[in-house]
Amino acid sequence: MSLVSGPGRAVGAQHDQQLCIQKHVEYIKNLDSRRDELEYWLTEHLRLNGVYWGLTALHLLGCPQALPREDTIDFVLSCQKDNGGFGAAPGHDAHMLYTVSAVQILVTLDAVDELEKRGLGGKAKVGSFIANLQDKETGSFMGDEWGELDTRFLYGAFNALSLLGLLHLVDVPKAVAYLQKCENLDGAYGIRPGTESHAGQVFTCVAALAIAGRLDLVNKDRLGGWLSERQLETGGFNGRPEKLEDACYSWWVGSSLAIIDRLHWIDGSKLAAYILRCQDPEAGGFGDRPGNMVDVFHTHFAIAGLSLLNHGSIKEVDPVYCMPKTVTTKYLSK
Ligand SMILES: [Zn+2]
Repeated sequence: MSLVSGPGRAVGAQHDQQLCIQKHVEYIKNLDSRRDELEYWLTEHLRLNGVYWGLTALHLLGCPQALPREDTIDFVLSCQKDNGGFGAAPGHDAHMLYTVSAVQILVTLDAVDELEKRGLGGKAKVGSFIANLQDKETGSFMGDEWGELDTRFLYGAFNALSLLGLLHLVDVPKAVAYLQKCENLDGAYGIRPGTESHAGQVFTCVAALAIAGRLDLVNKDRLGGWLSERQLETGGFNGRPEKLEDACYSWWVGSSLAIIDRLHWIDGSKLAAYILRCQDPEAGGFGDRPGNMVDVFHTHFAIAGLSLLNHGSIKEVDPVYCMPKTVTTKYLSK
């Protein structure tokens, strides 16, 4: 049996590692029990994102019950503010990125109804918080009331609103026109119009266009070429030219290629082997590069990257939503 599955053939045996599923499940489950450690408090500003990363990884690993469902829902609802948005943790200000994570978690747990029962104003209130962050002039989105513009927020708005069935609350054509302005001559996208192409922004722009049903606007061959060039000799991807590879770009680059149907342009088995070298086979979790400290962010995106490659028994991920495909299929057909 090949240790590295997915497109293409297994690479040299000396680099092959097996995915340590149980170690990763234990690593994620134990994150919440480390409250006495400094690392936990240093990352409090990311808490709700962390729950989304951990929960999604556990679903993809085939252990959807590993986190206690009711406690998770209670925590999500405790992060909601009066304006309908969600903060990173109880007491924190509401922000687009945490609101998107809250929606994704509730959808994954099939608990959106809890917003009506116990939330502050139901899903309509969440939708209006997001819709109010659209800049009426440009069509782009802010992350919060302070006004920083970034295509990450536009993607987040489209992601959460479409899951809630509320995409009609925003001006989609105007947002699409804004995304087009972020496209560069190399076919890739930047954080704002006229800025350098970056794989993370490619994902947010292409996935947002997919949700809007406007992938016809993407120059797929040109973008596919730029994305393919992100694969380095090690098998891993970097985020832009001249940068080091990083396991999380397996997702940003890989999902973009999957969305535009060009994932077969890269060496999938070489990528899978690189991702597996980034895992800690003893303590579980993945780091950005082999031998580096693991964290839940890289653990999630490494596992999601392996899912794109159909690796082993990992469940299918939705490349547009970065959630289990079974979940988005069920929700988006509602
Ligand atoms: Zn990274």
